Amino acid sequence: MAATIIDGKAVAARVRERVAAEVSDLVESAGVTPGLATVLVGDDPASALYVQRKGEACEQAGIASFHHELAADVPEPELAELLRTLGDDEAVNGILLQLPVPDHIDDDAMTDLIDPLKDVDGLHPQNAGLLVHGRKGLVPCTPAGVMELLDSAGVELEGAEAVVIGRSRLVGKPLASLLQAADATVTHCHSRTRDLAAVCREADVIVAAAGRPRLVTAEMVGEGATVIDVGTNRTDDGLVGDVDFEAVRERAGALTPVPGGVGPMTIAMLLSNTVEAARLQLERARAAPGPRPAQPVRR
Ligand code: NAP
Repeated sequence: MAATIIDGKAVAARVRERVAAEVSDLVESAGVTPGLATVLVGDDPASALYVQRKGEACEQAGIASFHHELAADVPEPELAELLRTLGDDEAVNGILLQLPVPDHIDDDAMTDLIDPLKDVDGLHPQNAGLLVHGRKGLVPCTPAGVMELLDSAGVELEGAEAVVIGRSRLVGKPLASLLQAADATVTHCHSRTRDLAAVCREADVIVAAAGRPRLVTAEMVGEGATVIDVGTNRTDDGLVGDVDFEAVRERAGALTPVPGGVGPMTIAMLLSNTVEAARLQLERARAAPGPRPAQPVRR
């Protein structure tokens, strides 16, 4: 029987509605309008388009957006200064440095400068560490979106055999931690995995995040398994995922398409993270010693 197709656009639309309601609540209850600052270095058209979409999505959810564009040859100290300024700006609850940045900029050093409570990409080592420790922090958007998709499809993760293909800090690593936290038994694969097909065949859940077109074939998928395709690969056939969609849909129980699966979730979870960041900063402000304002500060 053909797999159920998990509709990422529909799930993302529900997340965005939920976020818009949470924004209204925050404005009402605390006088805080969450704000997201995006920083784009250089003029890569794909990155510029992503950033533009993020700004539009913010507006729709009632989140304030602040966009900063720097020239491709901006000196690193100038970018560092901007990130520090945004860290101090109370109107900014989330900071997103669009990656990749030009080669002369050390992206790790720049990520380290972002206030962990404003790190809506979840890439700061503090947030990465909190995730591994199973503690509250900001989680990278794409893996968080994958977890929402699994939840929306009613996939039982407790005790499930889950295989993650890919170990990047942006997708694979955080995803493995999230699946483990959801009580799945996780096998983490990468380019040196000896027999990827054999590992995948045992899985109840496969998440492919390798950036290799059609890496996951039907022969690698057990009957009825759930397959989440994070890959976005531009090929001569257009945009394709890491999963051989047409063949795998005949074996899998549930499957995400590309496009229309994980992609729409990433921006939805960015909005969700911005609201979560605003809440975390509010908690920090309330916990800070010293006089507290009698009334919430309106802005
Ligand atoms: P990445 O940093 O290039 O990491 C790719 C990972 O896949 C690496 O860990 C690599 O292993 C592993 N890998 C490569 N070839 C493999 C193979 N043949 N077998 C098993 N593992 C293999 O990529 P990324 O940033 O995680 O992104 C992965 C994919 O997701 C890309 O297509 C990207 O465009 C897409 N993506 C989509 C979204 C979205 O919103 N839909 C968001 C982020 C990323 P090694 O570590 O051994 O090199």
